[in-house]
Amino acid sequence: METHLADFIRHTTAGREAEEILRRCVHCGFCTATCPTYQLLGDELDGPRGRIYLIKQVLEGAEPTEKTRLHLDRCLSCRSCESTCPSGVHYTRLLDIGREVVEQKVPRSGSDAFMRGTLKNLLPRSMLFGAAMKLGQSVRMLLPGVLRAKVPPLSSAGPTPHRLHARQMVALAGCVQPSMYPNVNGATRRVLDRLGIQMVEAGGAGCCGAVRLHLNAAEGSRDDARRNIDAWWPLLEAGAECLVMTASGCGSHVLEYAHLLQDDPDYALKAARVVLATRDISEVITAEADALGSLLLNCVPLPESEKPLAFQSPCSLQHGLKIRGTVELLLTAAGYRLTPVADSHLCCGSAGTYSVLQPVLSQRLQANKIAALTAGAPATIASANVGCMAHLQGVTDVPVRHWIELIDERLAS
Ligand code: SF4
Ligand code: SF4
Repeated sequence: METHLADFIRHTTAGREAEEILRRCVHCGFCTATCPTYQLLGDELDGPRGRIYLIKQVLEGAEPTEKTRLHLDRCLSCRSCESTCPSGVHYTRLLDIGREVVEQKVPRSGSDAFMRGTLKNLLPRSMLFGAAMKLGQSVRMLLPGVLRAKVPPLSSAGPTPHRLHARQMVALAGCVQPSMYPNVNGATRRVLDRLGIQMVEAGGAGCCGAVRLHLNAAEGSRDDARRNIDAWWPLLEAGAECLVMTASGCGSHVLEYAHLLQDDPDYALKAARVVLATRDISEVITAEADALGSLLLNCVPLPESEKPLAFQSPCSLQHGLKIRGTVELLLTAAGYRLTPVADSHLCCGSAGTYSVLQPVLSQRLQANKIAALTAGAPATIASANVGCMAHLQGVTDVPVRHWIELIDERLAS
């Protein structure tokens, strides 16, 4: 696509990157067919190709309006379009550039600004969010239905293994997962222990930074990345094998650290090393397949009634990390029978803060996803990302679990 960027951005890092991305797009429109928001709204400007046009116009000097911002706001950043694009257009990087520019040129006001400011300040602070979540959980049954659906019942991380292992891996606790689903990292710790690996968490690490980036606070997101790198660095230097991500949303974002910090002379190299060391928990477990296989052979067979399982592959797992079929194989090896899930490439509507900021679209996607997941009458729904788990559990009685919790339970049987 021929582009002539305006002076305000042409000679910047963002401008050069945007130009390179725009030139790749041949406006074939293949991506439109797999875009969830285009499918719901049927408007070209609510699909990737239309949004690319909008961003191009803005970067070429056209003045954006609130309508421009709305079309960009409605994007889930699900990256389904990137999986479909035959030209390798890195759409979400262009989106981040476009959103940052539009945010500056069309400032928000009123309840929109208040809500975003609240989310930006509450979610990444795990202590603050944890206290709010604990309060919500203590009065959960008294909460109105819409709020109760967003508050999972109080739960624990389960027993902690006490054996010491020479092999160490660093897991990210993250911001909302420890208070919403502490058992996810608890289960990870136990599974890794059985495989002869010590899981440690770096005290100073926190939110991966995805929340702030999705709320158009790029510099705050970079600060989150720097803080995490500082916390992880001594452990990597001391010989930890890798950084384990138990939420695919966080893992997908941490892989962007080298890009986010490319212009930071103090962090660029460290960020690149962090990216190289980052693994999704499914990659870690798959690399230990022989040991896992031996352990599973000694497990009690899964009762027939518990076998049917629907796997919800989060966008961050399949489109962000490009991990497809791996978790499904692990669950099958553990004795589960996967039920078919139609349109599994489409987002569930959780998408970070999307369910709060775009509730109408989010709920339509949620309803579609639940219908697809429950069509095969599963006993359990498994996921790989905390946000999707909470979002889906809010509207179904079928238990929604992280898949590593299921592997942990199988190994304990
Ligand atoms: S599929 Fe790729 S090349 Fe085609 S319009 Fe979409 S982004 Fe552009
Ligand atoms: S990221 Fe998702 S919602 Fe946004 S344009 Fe691409 S497919 Fe559509």
